[in-house]
Amino acid sequence: MSSTSRLRVAICGAGVGGLTFALALSQYPNIDIDIYESARQLTEVGAGIGIFPRPWKIIKLLGLEADLLKVTETRVVEGPVSAFRYRKSDQREGLEFFTLVTQGSLVLFHRADYQQTLLNHLPKRCRTYCSKRLRSYTQRQSGSIELLFEDGTTSSCDVLVGADGVKSVVRAGILGEKARWAQGEGRWKEAAEILTHVEPVWSGSNAYRALIPVEKLRAIAPNHRVLNTPGVQYLGKHGYIMSYRISGGKLVNFVAFISRHHLENTKFNGPWMSTVEPSAFASFFAHWEPDVQALIACVEKPMQWAIHTIRPMQSFISGRVALLGDAVSELYFLSCPEF
Ligand SMILES: Cc1cc2nc3c(=O)[nH]c(=O)nc-3n(C[C@H](O)[C@H](O)[C@H](O)COP(=O)(O)OP(=O)(O)OC[C@H]3O[C@@H](n4cnc5c(N)ncnc54)[C@H](O)[C@@H]3O)c2cc1C
Repeated sequence: MSSTSRLRVAICGAGVGGLTFALALSQYPNIDIDIYESARQLTEVGAGIGIFPRPWKIIKLLGLEADLLKVTETRVVEGPVSAFRYRKSDQREGLEFFTLVTQGSLVLFHRADYQQTLLNHLPKRCRTYCSKRLRSYTQRQSGSIELLFEDGTTSSCDVLVGADGVKSVVRAGILGEKARWAQGEGRWKEAAEILTHVEPVWSGSNAYRALIPVEKLRAIAPNHRVLNTPGVQYLGKHGYIMSYRISGGKLVNFVAFISRHHLENTKFNGPWMSTVEPSAFASFFAHWEPDVQALIACVEKPMQWAIHTIRPMQSFISGRVALLGDAVSELYFLSCPEF
């Protein structure tokens, strides 16, 4: 690229992956960045998010550290630090058996605060378009990529990056191209295999997420471990609960996972995300230790997330189209320890 020519990069999806990538690209003045987001406005659904030391190094390189430190209560240190305490909790008296020590802090946030900080740092020349759901793309011989949106409008770019989450339309496009090439060369079996990666599959696990006011928890369990440690994971057979304080210590992030391993790679019947009653998961944990009962007693209107994933892919690119984030990666943290 000459010093005057400009590269037009389109990012499909403005989740944490797309926004972080846009920020990284924005350090290069010769790149024009268009972000297309299907939602009407940029709001993060969910509760807490923890950033481990390795991605935190990238956060620092992107110049986000100072502003992110304003919206976390984690005291960030560089040396060894206790990140999570692990307990065997599916019994009346829990048993602490491990402390995860990381080389540098696990930094904990409310997702909305985290995403807002990313947005605050996006320079003006990163143009963000909401209500733009990508339907498909076409790579032209000329080099440009044509984008077609659900509202019938079109656009073009030189490079397309799909950061459009687990249901990724860009992934479907990439796999469609690869399957057509294989078919063109008579490799029918390979083409059929490639297409099995288009649709996400249910992991067999559901997550139940909620935010609990710290004072509510303190009122019923003044000595609760979550109130005085960075984070606790309560583990048991076929399930676990992760909990930590966020939002300057005002809220407790609560997420409970229940895994039905025999249903892994099957189809989930029902909405992938919905508001449910605590009874949807409380009985599973009924025999667990008192810390767990106190957390569950504080949960109101939890969100149920049916955790979907995709089968591992051999390549994340096709020509000048690439994928990142949940559009391509498997969720590593869902494997539930069994005792
Ligand atoms: C319960 C739970 C807890 C987690 N905790 C952590 C944690 O502590 N730390 C951590 O690092 N990760 C955590 N993760 C994983 C993390 O949330 C995801 O990996 C991350 O959010 C993925 O970001 P993304 O930008 O790739 O995708 P998404 O966040 O899914 O964003 C995709 C974006 O693309 C948009 N989009 C979709 N389709 C289109 C389309 N066709 N056209 C235009 N836009 C489109 C969507 O509206 C969305 O805004 C957790 C996940 C779960 C389920």
